[in-house]
Amino acid sequence: VQDLDGLVEAFEVYPTSNPTPPGERAAELAAPRFGTVFTDHMSRITWRKDSGWQDRRVVEYGPLALDPAAAVLHYAQEIFEGLKAYRHADGSIWTFRPEANAARFQRSAKRLALPELSTDDFIGSLAALVRKDIEWVPSADGFSLYLRPFMYASESFLGVRSSHEVEYLVIASPVGSYFADGVKPVSIWIAQDYHRAGKGGTGSAKCGGNYAASLLPQIEAYEQGCEQVAFLDDVTDTYLEELGGMNLFVVRSDGTVETPELTGTILEGVTRSSILQLARDRGHEVVERRISLAELLAGLRDGSVSEVFACGTAAVITPIGRFKGVNFDEVVSGGAAGELTMALREELTGIQTGKVEDRYGWLT
Ligand code: PMP
Repeated sequence: VQDLDGLVEAFEVYPTSNPTPPGERAAELAAPRFGTVFTDHMSRITWRKDSGWQDRRVVEYGPLALDPAAAVLHYAQEIFEGLKAYRHADGSIWTFRPEANAARFQRSAKRLALPELSTDDFIGSLAALVRKDIEWVPSADGFSLYLRPFMYASESFLGVRSSHEVEYLVIASPVGSYFADGVKPVSIWIAQDYHRAGKGGTGSAKCGGNYAASLLPQIEAYEQGCEQVAFLDDVTDTYLEELGGMNLFVVRSDGTVETPELTGTILEGVTRSSILQLARDRGHEVVERRISLAELLAGLRDGSVSEVFACGTAAVITPIGRFKGVNFDEVVSGGAAGELTMALREELTGIQTGKVEDRYGWLT
């Protein structure tokens, strides 16, 4: 980013007259209630078909007015993003590869027939909000401020067509350490009757509808005693795709690092791309390909697969300790976190939090 100040200046700031008292905020930051408690402000930009993006502003956090006929409520024309702002030891605040989230937001917009927001406006909206609510960025180890940009069809019109009126907002919620009691491997249920995405559908876009479709299979996972659900491809029911909100990685005992290739039904995670780079630079062979469930199970049984993990912004890297399906229940590396899994986790979180040199220029 060449001129962050310039991008931020495009936003008019209307401060709240009712900010959270400092003591209350300190209590929230000490024990964040992620996704429930939000900062005092939100960024906002409005789009009109005739006049484009306008009215860049930072306003008081609060409810939105929606006409009951607003298109998003009926046809789910909506997309979102998720990334974090980290406070480094010197007090400075950084986001991790926000231009990658901006690019994905543009790809999602295209697929949902929403207007594309420029990378400048995307990053400007994040920085304007973080600067206004800077005291909301926690400083405890592993804590951060989660940023949630989203865009929705706000036009009151029941006809099925792309909306002529769109709202873009960013809200922010302090978040604590994902693994407060130490990193613990998760168990995975392989969805039997459901898929997350179909060929030609919206799987590679980050749109609300994909997550609505994942809720029932996630309930099924809980009923099966598993924490997360993983999906297979919809055409052959053979190949591993991803979890409801995380990408998958397999580490072979010969050190090869593998992840399902991007087939159009998988969300391209920023964490996934970063891990591919880190693993390559550690000297691992890195392969993006189709990985069948049968192959994974065989590899776990004969020892040729040594580690499996999931990755995403929320938990960064989560070891997987168990795969369960209708006719199998397989433990991964004795149910313990793998060595490379933890080393990559350490390195990636180190870069994000300023403890490891940002040699790729990933921080803004
Ligand atoms: N897959 C899905 C379906 C997701 O929702 C997410 C979270 N955005 C990811 C993968 C991981 O993406 P990222 O690393 O960019 O958070």
